[in-house]
Amino acid sequence: MADADIILTFWQAAQGPGAGRAKRLLAAAGEADGAALTLGEATRRLIALRGRLVGEAISAVANCPACGTVNETRFVPADLVGAAEGGPVMVEAEGWRATARPLTLADMDAAAASAGPGVAADLLRARAITAVEPPEGGGEAPAALIAAVEAALDAADPLADARIGLVCAGCAQSWEVAFDAAALLTVELDAAARRAMAEVATLARAYGWSEAEILGMPAARRQIYLDLAG
Ligand SMILES: [Zn+2]
Repeated sequence: MADADIILTFWQAAQGPGAGRAKRLLAAAGEADGAALTLGEATRRLIALRGRLVGEAISAVANCPACGTVNETRFVPADLVGAAEGGPVMVEAEGWRATARPLTLADMDAAAASAGPGVAADLLRARAITAVEPPEGGGEAPAALIAAVEAALDAADPLADARIGLVCAGCAQSWEVAFDAAALLTVELDAAARRAMAEVATLARAYGWSEAEILGMPAARRQIYLDLAG
């Protein structure tokens, strides 16, 4: 666990709307142009940041969709991090060709600001697909082309839609849950920040020190003063 002043800095960055949160957390970590990162690269960096702030392993509980058993799971998100090229992809389907690029945080910000999920999906598709070459005769781009683009982008940037595979201890049902690194880190930062603020409140009451004085103190000394104040 990082020291309290660092936890509070990142907790502050996580406040506000969910849209843009990944970008704000990465900016607090010194990432100058988070908006340009692909979704997968942003997830990879958030996983690394989370490792430094709250530790590597994740413990979570998930209810089995088949039998309702509450399963406890523990995993290391580094296991999710596969190699990805991240670059543009070119696909062909039914004589059509398309070039596309993985989505970035800036694309998601634009989608979040659009009017409704249908509009957002169209906008994301329009931003991802950078060129389309129809065959002789043209017409409407076939669904197979869009499906091929989506499959190629999934392969190029697999962490864009990171998923965790789970198996129920009760009935052996297997299922997947989405892994949202920014949302998880926000929940964990909130818990850690509340603990840090409770310590500040205890020390301020006991000794009359300011928040800045308490947070500026080495963690080991702060802990001893906490024990003495107890
Ligand atoms: Zn089950």
